[in-house]
Amino acid sequence: MTSLPAGFRAVYLVGRRRLEVREAPLPRPGAGEILLRIGAATTCGTDLKVWQRGGHPRMLTVPCPFGHEMAGVVAAVGDAVKTVGEGARVVVANSASCGECTACRAGHENLCRDLVYLNGAFGEYLLIPERFVLRSTYGIAPGLPLELATLAEPLACVLHGLEVCALDGREGVLVLGAGPVGLMFVAVLAARRRRVVLADLIPRRLEVGRALGAAETILLSGGEGDTERLRGGFAGTGPELVVEATGHPPAWEAAIGAVVPGGEVLLFGGCLPGTTASCDTHRLHYSELTIRGAYHHRPATFRQAVRSLEEGLDLGPIVDHQRPLDEVGDALAAMERREILKAVIRP
Ligand SMILES: [Zn+2]
Ligand SMILES: [Zn+2]
Repeated sequence: MTSLPAGFRAVYLVGRRRLEVREAPLPRPGAGEILLRIGAATTCGTDLKVWQRGGHPRMLTVPCPFGHEMAGVVAAVGDAVKTVGEGARVVVANSASCGECTACRAGHENLCRDLVYLNGAFGEYLLIPERFVLRSTYGIAPGLPLELATLAEPLACVLHGLEVCALDGREGVLVLGAGPVGLMFVAVLAARRRRVVLADLIPRRLEVGRALGAAETILLSGGEGDTERLRGGFAGTGPELVVEATGHPPAWEAAIGAVVPGGEVLLFGGCLPGTTASCDTHRLHYSELTIRGAYHHRPATFRQAVRSLEEGLDLGPIVDHQRPLDEVGDALAAMERREILKAVIRP
């Protein structure tokens, strides 16, 4: 075993908008576990929501190590670990399914009855539990930088979203929301030769979207006239697929309102619990709209995400900021002010 430090630092979420960098003795991996030396982690829209609310009903209760998009190098392995060795460069997914329940056996691991989450990406080291070693640790090619490998997690969610909707025969796609996830949809759909129109309220984000392959962009006002603006990108007819990537009920409604007859709406952005959105029942029925939700990722789409990044899918423009561990809060505040898209946190 290479020499390891006695202690390590990690960022904890301790309450609403409250983070603390804590020091602890470095754990030794037990049977089946590995110790990951984190090389890069990225902030995500989910982190921002969890930081603003001081917790998450499924993912964590405070105080808790924070951050969930990570890549690094295996620093030590416990007894009986056979799938990965010391020194391996890996990405670890932020959840691990059981592999045995009916959802898992049907290939819907994202809906596993016993999905366990892993937090602690914003730290120097993280102990990876056995289930994650076996089911959620992915080796990465030597040429893939760790700060891009961390994007496998959100990209795996995007690829899952595109697998649950019918992409065949749908050429014109509207992506609503140019946050990191909306922009990933743009990059993936453009690589699949779809004509992508991207809509958002922030001009700079639309610029990034054009760099990632959006054929056209629509600057929204957030008020009157936005529905017409959305249809305008498709010669007055409308998109065949709409991807909603904001997580706000009015945008859900706009997405359903914009799609053409026979088209599909992918509701990807998660809204606050208890919120509702309404839709025109007449249009839903007589125009035969398909409305889909999509949540999280599955091992198959995670593997696919790692492969796409290794093959050079360029998501670099989405990571537009860098901060050390002590400044995760500043990075989240900058995201909240919409000054940045996504930050790499380097321990
Ligand atoms: Zn994420
Ligand atoms: Zn399961």
